[in-house]
Amino acid sequence: MEFYEREKKDSCGVFGVCNPKHDIVHNIYNGLVSLQHRGQESAGISTVKNRRIYSKRVWGLVSQNLKPKLWRLPGHIGIGHVRYSTTGSSTLANAQPMVHNGFSLAHNGNLANYIQIRRMMEREGFRLTANSDAEVMLKLFRKYYCGCGDYVEAFRELSGQVEGGYSLVMLSRNHELIAARDPLGLRPLCQGVDRDTVAFASESVALDCNNMKLIGDVKPGSVVVATEDGFETYQYVQCNRRAHCMFEFVYFSRVDSILEGRSVYDVRFKLGVNLAKTYDVKPDVVVPVPDTSRTAAEGYSSQTGVPVAEGLIKNRYVHRTFIMPKQKDRESAMKLKLNPLKSVINGRKVLIIDDSIVRGTTSKAIIQMVRKAGASKVYMMSTCPPIVSPCFYGIDIATYSELIAAKSTVEEIKTKINADILGYQTLEGLIDAIGLPEEDLCLGCLKGEYPTPYAQRTLEALKEKATLEKARLWEVEALV
Ligand code: AMP
Repeated sequence: MEFYEREKKDSCGVFGVCNPKHDIVHNIYNGLVSLQHRGQESAGISTVKNRRIYSKRVWGLVSQNLKPKLWRLPGHIGIGHVRYSTTGSSTLANAQPMVHNGFSLAHNGNLANYIQIRRMMEREGFRLTANSDAEVMLKLFRKYYCGCGDYVEAFRELSGQVEGGYSLVMLSRNHELIAARDPLGLRPLCQGVDRDTVAFASESVALDCNNMKLIGDVKPGSVVVATEDGFETYQYVQCNRRAHCMFEFVYFSRVDSILEGRSVYDVRFKLGVNLAKTYDVKPDVVVPVPDTSRTAAEGYSSQTGVPVAEGLIKNRYVHRTFIMPKQKDRESAMKLKLNPLKSVINGRKVLIIDDSIVRGTTSKAIIQMVRKAGASKVYMMSTCPPIVSPCFYGIDIATYSELIAAKSTVEEIKTKINADILGYQTLEGLIDAIGLPEEDLCLGCLKGEYPTPYAQRTLEALKEKATLEKARLWEVEALV
């Protein structure tokens, strides 16, 4: 049990494409390269030709390790996946797409009741060899599909069992491309076309780089089945609300993507504008934490007239300080990753804008380096409101006990990170910037109110057991 509870993480990117005339592996490659920010641990592609599924999964980056394997993947229909890095030991068994008995599946999201489902499947005699939602989704889906021979019915049954976020692309030995989204639309999935080609992607940027036209988002609770003759969309379940993840807009998605009809760039710009409207501070210069916060800093600057300057220079070859397991490692990696520019900072009141404060490690380290570089005052703002609760649906933020805002007030956080002023985005400012109704958003990590019952119960159990310092979300399942 320890094995799978500690390791599972599923923030990822998916891409699927069907073209009646040509091999499509280069489209999947382009799509995955443009979704690389959604996961750098492993990548993979499956295609189907003459009822045979071809599949390759590799460690690391798409352009380095997957590219040499592309020639082995023939066919007009295919899917691809990039997977986020994990903190535990990893195995290629968890890489995707997974292949099982005539189907291949790539999944983005996270099941809140994964352990429960896994135990149920083990009791039923399923052989589970990996430690991932994708495996349980694929094997359960196939069970239901074999029972009824109908995709819509199979997804209806599946959605009755699993709870959480899932955006899936699948292919079948029968030359079908299948795309499905969970009933709440927690994780993104959009659809594009180019003449006879149809494609699905976690983000629209993957369609852009294939010269495909975005035609919209896959509707929550629906499944699209595409063949070489066209595609059909079916609603497998109706849900009276949506719950699009706000963090996709704030941090996770690329700034040039369109999610739910909203430009991520516009949202981030407005997040900066709204910070400027909320806090009346008078910095000499606004410095974004690269890369995500650049757009918000532009927005802040446009609203206030305060110049924006690149006062923190990022080493583009250092990645993922956030997900390093040890706090000490994260701190020293931060020094390698960011270097302050004295000529921008020295003697000035500097406002640093970051997209979010999760554990507070990043802010604290940045403030310290900006002070050392000679700032007379250091103000800190976060485009995201305080993160007070974990995510159960696919964003790897942190455990409950690690979240700095879960147990400290803004004033206390300001002291802990050593800022002269600390300003968080308000909930209203966030919702206004995203431009979707509040009831269409998942704000679970900000409010501690989740759109699904199992996640809510897990949070309550976590709170009760908050003394379990290292508790990961999946561990508390045993307590629920
Ligand atoms: P922390 O040091 O834990 O407060 O992390 C906050 C920093 O990590 C911010 O600069 C964010 O841009 C970044 N961040 C937030 N969420 C994630 C995530 N899920 N994966 C990687 N980086 C993240």
